[in-house]
Amino acid sequence: MSKGKTNVTCSFCGRDKADTIMMVQGLNAHICEACVEQAYDIIHEELYGQKPGDRPSQNGGKAKGKAGVSNQANVKLTPKDLKEHLDNYVIGQDEAKKFLAVAVYNHYKRLNQPATPDDIEIEKSNILLVGRTGTGKTLLAKTIAKFLNVPFAIVDATVFTEAGYVGEDVESILSRLLQVCDYDVAAAERGIVYLDEVDKIARKGDNPSITRDVSGEGVQQALLKMLEGTDVNVPPQGGRKHPEQKMIKVNTENILFICGGAFDGIEKIIARRVNTQVIGFKADEQEARVDRDNLLQYISQQDIKSFGLIPELIGRLPVLTYLEPLDLAALKRILTEPKNSLLRQYEKLFLLEGIQLEITDDALDFIAQKALEFNLGARGLRSLCEAIMTDAMFELPSAKDVRHLRIDAAYATEKLSRAKIGRLKAA
Ligand code: ADP
Repeated sequence: MSKGKTNVTCSFCGRDKADTIMMVQGLNAHICEACVEQAYDIIHEELYGQKPGDRPSQNGGKAKGKAGVSNQANVKLTPKDLKEHLDNYVIGQDEAKKFLAVAVYNHYKRLNQPATPDDIEIEKSNILLVGRTGTGKTLLAKTIAKFLNVPFAIVDATVFTEAGYVGEDVESILSRLLQVCDYDVAAAERGIVYLDEVDKIARKGDNPSITRDVSGEGVQQALLKMLEGTDVNVPPQGGRKHPEQKMIKVNTENILFICGGAFDGIEKIIARRVNTQVIGFKADEQEARVDRDNLLQYISQQDIKSFGLIPELIGRLPVLTYLEPLDLAALKRILTEPKNSLLRQYEKLFLLEGIQLEITDDALDFIAQKALEFNLGARGLRSLCEAIMTDAMFELPSAKDVRHLRIDAAYATEKLSRAKIGRLKAA
């Protein structure tokens, strides 16, 4: 028995008070919060035919939609609907959108499948997105979670270490998910986690070294069970597990994990493999040339393994897809087309001051060109726009008679040449 245990236990499930969030005392019995919730579900199912996901949560119904959303309603959405929605917010990346839409569709279909006697168990379709920084990996995951109205947490894989070492335990991934839905366990258990920078936990070299790889392979090992689906004891506030901290049990069976990473240098690994195959298949020259233009499209589980993810982890991320590097045209579209594009955001900001903002096409070309030079994907666009527009945003609120601001390439060039970011050399 660990430290902090009491003699008070739940009369229904037997959990010790120390392992619960709340214990209600009756005449000769105690009941923990989990059993109260379960009893509530049973009563509602019996009396009103409501399923557990339909019940209002303990936090004033705030998470009601979240828990309920992944029930029947969303299953009617087809993968095409999901992709169409993504198209409103994410430019290009058609391949990734298609894979994501199908995986998410199958995931929620699996959750809502009626019990059948055929013993066929549909496995989880966790996803691995590979693509350079700023190409939309997080945006894709975030957009789909928002659309489905399920709890969503973004977690950086670099903060984790194997249990017992300086760093965070992987269980704190679920603490974040619980936090975003106000500790509604039922909602969290149907949520989506985006695990960023998963390439940074790659094994540190091919040979097992004498020193333990606690932030690489050790973390990968720790993630396996969680990704596959198991009961995890989660410290509600994150951080390390302390014996005195009350744990919340979360089952990860129905949590969708989307992992993302830049996998810098993986093109070389792909090239090596593809080149051997191309020679083997005697492909014509045209095909060989296309191979080198966009190698990521040929990415396979084998390449991820060569990069340093262990096969067991790769096996738990069965859906593998890639994001294209953003070219000039894509960057320009990102500035203007998405529903909440940067341009629309700035237009709104100025409109709130009563000023109509006009950005000319050549100014957009200029900004996109600079973002391309900085090599930060679409991430650079925001800082560039800020650098170009800060002067106007500073001056205009006090200039009462200005009703129109026109930004052309000359204006943008001049403002950027004076800003610090403009003087930076491209990476
Ligand atoms: P990462 O691939 O590094 O996860 P993000 O998804 O965080 O990149 O993208 C950073 C920002 O760049 C987002 O907030 C978004 O505004 C923009 N962005 C990146 N890619 C796209 C895209 N394909 N379409 C629209 N916006 C994008």
